[in-house]
Amino acid sequence: MHRDLNHPDIVIIGSGIGGATMAFGLANSDLKILILESGEQMPDSPDNDDQQKIFSQQHFKPDEVWFDKDNKAFRPGNYYYVGGNSKFYGAVLARYRQEDFEEMIHEGGVSPAWPFGYAELEPWYCAAEKLYRVRGDSQADPTEPPRSHPYAFAAIEDEADIAIVRRRLQKQGLSPYSLPLAVDIAQWSQSRKVPWDAHPHYFNGKFDAETAALSLTASHSNIQLLTGSKVIRLKTAADGGRIEEVVYQRNNQTCSVRPQLVILAAGAVHSAALLLKSKNARYPNGLANRSGMVGRNFMNHNCTAVVGFSHRYCNRSVYQKTFGLNDFYLSDGAGGYPLGNIQLLGRVSGQILKSSLPAAPGFALNYFSRHSIDFYAMSEDLPSPDNRIQLDGDKITLHWERNNWAAHTRLVKKLSNALKKCGFYFVMSKPFDKRTPSHQCGTVRMGIDPERDPLNSYCQAWEHENLYVVDASFMPSSAAVNPSLTIAAQALRVADHIMQHRLAK
Ligand SMILES: Cc1cc2nc3c(=O)[nH]c(=O)nc-3n(C[C@H](O)[C@H](O)[C@H](O)COP(=O)(O)OP(=O)(O)OC[C@H]3O[C@@H](n4cnc5c(N)ncnc54)[C@H](O)[C@@H]3O)c2cc1C
Repeated sequence: MHRDLNHPDIVIIGSGIGGATMAFGLANSDLKILILESGEQMPDSPDNDDQQKIFSQQHFKPDEVWFDKDNKAFRPGNYYYVGGNSKFYGAVLARYRQEDFEEMIHEGGVSPAWPFGYAELEPWYCAAEKLYRVRGDSQADPTEPPRSHPYAFAAIEDEADIAIVRRRLQKQGLSPYSLPLAVDIAQWSQSRKVPWDAHPHYFNGKFDAETAALSLTASHSNIQLLTGSKVIRLKTAADGGRIEEVVYQRNNQTCSVRPQLVILAAGAVHSAALLLKSKNARYPNGLANRSGMVGRNFMNHNCTAVVGFSHRYCNRSVYQKTFGLNDFYLSDGAGGYPLGNIQLLGRVSGQILKSSLPAAPGFALNYFSRHSIDFYAMSEDLPSPDNRIQLDGDKITLHWERNNWAAHTRLVKKLSNALKKCGFYFVMSKPFDKRTPSHQCGTVRMGIDPERDPLNSYCQAWEHENLYVVDASFMPSSAAVNPSLTIAAQALRVADHIMQHRLAK
């Protein structure tokens, strides 16, 4: 039985990594918590394994349309389910490198320092890894930051044809490391013969915001999840900055609640959009926006798929995604600028290739896939106030001009050369663009200066003392690492802060 959740102490908006981890972090309190999630639960369906449906028919992609700077419409791969985008994620749960918390000079500009150093987040990284049951091995990665606890589970082993490529890269003097993964491979392999990257799932062995964090709150009577509940406005009190009311739509009805605390976790684009949309006479530029930075500094990583082909190599792997390379993370290997991270993609089948090359015959794509291996090169996207989302009514416009692209091009070249040395004589690459805003972040950044930053270092809005923003929006820089573990670690840190200093009863 949920107790009096019509009058919650806390409303969490969104059940992605930020929102769900926050709910977990607060679950053991005596606080009444209502989670408002616009999506529904991902069903347990054969569609979840159907690559034609997922990639060619884009069955799971919402009909939502955003616009680019030239007012051209596009459909973003941004997902609205219980668990948010993590239902589709590759489950690489990596810590930012220690250096990512400090100012770092890149070829394309400056990656700013965070308001706290790595040591502050380290215990929360441990807690997040425990919660998401991350498997890993911290030995092989030259950039691995110091850890107070080892991984609780051994890394997922390479499939045989992937191990061959790892060895060939090692022979070149590179240091492939096992990816830290939130996947129980025995459970996953038992029920499914597909990779987990970009594949939605129910409860099949991938630990995401729903299956790892939210599911643990199910037995807590102080927490209620309302799905199909889209928050449309935050209202401030007439006499101050407190958020007084959360207005949402459910079953075509407009409802509202008046919690003591509001935790916004709708994702980096929608959290910023909601703050901008909630403008009023007292806050004409939107909430939490004295700095003018809400919606700005959108970052998304520079990412490219890189595929190596050789008819002499046979790839019989199912999931593939088990190792990465950080040899060029902090510099290009010769004392030059940082380039970024390389990691395997989930296995790209002929069916997946078909979604990009619909005219190509299936047998040729299957042949190509069978003799190739697929990587993901990822470089830091630097914060720029000109990269921003803007609202016109409900219409979302995303202005995103890539920066630091020369470094990314160099990273792709390094990877191509390494693959050629491994015997893959044909290497092709394809950058991801704005239709894949998977690593969106930065739009409501935290920092030490209320004039420059919407949030303080506990993700609390400087202007609204009962408003926190804990999804990827808070990140001052994107690093070149998958973001989810850092979002989760910060959510646990903020939850602890709230429990200790604010609302603990
Ligand atoms: C294909 C793919 C692969 C990825 N692989 C990785 C990976 O391997 N490792 C990694 O770290 N990251 C990966 N990511 C990125 C990762 O999934 C995201 O960084 C992370 O899930 C973001 O969490 P979030 O809490 O910021 O937001 P979201 O996941 O976007 O969650 C926001 C939630 O809020 C809900 N919502 C939105 N608007 C409203 C509203 N107005 N009212 C109520 N609810 C609302 C949404 O439905 C959603 O559930 C991947 C993403 C994709 C798409």
